[in-house]
Amino acid sequence: MFRAFLIKYGEIGIKGKNRHLFEDALVSQIQHALKAVEGTFQTSKEQGRIYVEALSEFDYEETLESLQRVFGIVGICPAVILEDQGFEQLCQDVIAYLDARYADKQMTFKVNARRARKDYPIESMQINARVGEKILMAFPQMKVDVHHPQLLLNIEVRQKIILYSEVIPGPGGMPVGTSGRAMLLLSGGIDSPVAGYMISKRGVKLDATYFHAPPYTSERAKQKVVELARLVARYSGPICLKVVNFTEIQLYIYEKCPHEELTIIMRRYMMKIAEHFAKESHSMGLITGESIGQVASQTMQSLAATNEVCTLPVYRPLIGFDKQEIIDVSEKIGTYETSIQPFEDCCTIFVAKHPVTKPNLNIIRRSEQRLREKIDQMVQTAIESAETIVVE
Ligand code: ATP
Ligand code: MG
Repeated sequence: MFRAFLIKYGEIGIKGKNRHLFEDALVSQIQHALKAVEGTFQTSKEQGRIYVEALSEFDYEETLESLQRVFGIVGICPAVILEDQGFEQLCQDVIAYLDARYADKQMTFKVNARRARKDYPIESMQINARVGEKILMAFPQMKVDVHHPQLLLNIEVRQKIILYSEVIPGPGGMPVGTSGRAMLLLSGGIDSPVAGYMISKRGVKLDATYFHAPPYTSERAKQKVVELARLVARYSGPICLKVVNFTEIQLYIYEKCPHEELTIIMRRYMMKIAEHFAKESHSMGLITGESIGQVASQTMQSLAATNEVCTLPVYRPLIGFDKQEIIDVSEKIGTYETSIQPFEDCCTIFVAKHPVTKPNLNIIRRSEQRLREKIDQMVQTAIESAETIVVE
């Protein structure tokens, strides 16, 4: 019965003079999300409201699911749009709507009219009272409750008249594209896709970098990361993924440096290379899935050592999360099942038995001195040979 959705947005409503920029970004994110859905849609913006209307046959569930992934949307209201054919007809249409939508009418209700078109002959309060009366006459089981109604029937009077009575929660956040862009270090694990999701939720456009180490890591491990990027892209929009061959650098570090420092030193080179791509694409920060104390390379000391090579800010949205909390989000956003597929990533192969948990920066820097002969060239080669995959 629904051919349209009224879109409610929260935070972006409070952005003052920039409001139209946020609304335009939201409209364009909605249009992008609906491209993948069967059907033709029109998304329009009118007086602080965004509407999505189906212009053809469409899949209701799929449309709803897509809209539930658009950041900036707080509520999705399936709506019926009526031509204005006079007040009597409106009352009949309301009755027909309730009859079709609610089989069980044992409930309290309230009519909430909003007259956005001031030349409509009846005021909002009058619409509430008179439509309410008609409903009570048509369905004696229904009762009015103006404070806590079970059913809030909204009637918006514009050029057309919009009826809706349900608000399905959206993901919240800000429309992607309103907060600049950032580079996600995406591995095949549980954490980094969640980290990307969280930063993207604040309106940030994502790029990603993945380090693989063939033949130590398999093609399937890479495919898994591409799949994770695709799952995140359902929310964030297209992601430009750089796949960096890290084998040579890893082997070189393995050969030259103390094994307990491997992870930290590797991490530092990953950051440097990711930062190179970040700057190339005008990203304003790096994103990782680190959380304090999760593993040896994520103690405060280790994070400080990793951070030290970066000039861009490093965003770590999971920093205070427990693993279970991260898992909960990954299940909610649909990345968990893919993340737990058992393909080695390059870090799990080169891990030391007893990694340092409190790396000393001077010592790390001294160890890195042993790489000086070839490392710059290797980094350059890794950058130049990186593969670019655009994931939608
Ligand atoms: P994840 O679950 O995201 O793999 P993790 O708990 O396994 O995280 P680490 O392996 O220590 O943690 O990695 C910490 C962070 O470093 C990751 O969240 C990710 O942002 C980045 N990272 C690690 N390995 C890679 C990789 N191979 N390619 C790109 N980024 C990586
Ligand atoms: Mg990992």
